[in-house]
Amino acid sequence: MEMKVIGFWGAYPEKGEATSCFLLQHEQFNLVIDLGSGSLSRLQHYIDITDIHAVVLSHFHHDHVTDLGSFQYAGLVQQQLKNLSGKIPIYASSDDQSVMKQLNHQATVGKFYHLTEPQQIGPFTFTFIKTKHPKTCYAMRIECGDDVIVYTADTAYFKDLVHFSKDADLLIAETSFYKGMNGAKAGHMTSEEVGQLADQAQVKEVWLSHLPHFGEHQQLLDEASEIYNGPMQLAYEGLTWQS
Ligand SMILES: [Zn+2]
Ligand SMILES: [Zn+2]
Repeated sequence: MEMKVIGFWGAYPEKGEATSCFLLQHEQFNLVIDLGSGSLSRLQHYIDITDIHAVVLSHFHHDHVTDLGSFQYAGLVQQQLKNLSGKIPIYASSDDQSVMKQLNHQATVGKFYHLTEPQQIGPFTFTFIKTKHPKTCYAMRIECGDDVIVYTADTAYFKDLVHFSKDADLLIAETSFYKGMNGAKAGHMTSEEVGQLADQAQVKEVWLSHLPHFGEHQQLLDEASEIYNGPMQLAYEGLTWQS
């Protein structure tokens, strides 16, 4: 299993970059997690749109779905050019059934996650947990063979996330605020909370993502490292984890 960062900003992309988007690959199966602002452009540095087999969306805040419409147009154009046949499945939660209207398109077909049992998408087994966030959002635990990756999506710290992330090989943790700030009110985590989560869940490696547009990001790393001793780094485009 291979996981690559495409976009790592919270809220909006800095110039030439993207908000939340990740490319997950295993044995010719290519899956995209979240389609944040700027992500479709950045994604094409790593993969052709016609080679994407599925998309999984964590929630419908703009910084996670802005490029959904552009992705559908790209699929439609590639269908017309005969480079793409069939529709690309896009997975989302069924909490808001009205999103299905956005997911169904000439080039894409909407599918709801399984919330009560693990869900197989290509070679990956997904398990979802609802996070603490103003808009309904799901973190995802992705298993493939012996490898486990957990993506927190957007969330405040909550106890069940520790169990959900337990022993993951890689934890991609949203880190929207610095130590001492109140992240929970906005439904986000501080660097200190990410350190606690990583430490308590005993994960093997951590990426800090969904980064803020203020302060020095190195400080996020320093603060989280006061609690979690394992390997940890700031997400950047192209950063890749391989089993
Ligand atoms: Zn959000
Ligand atoms: Zn977000």
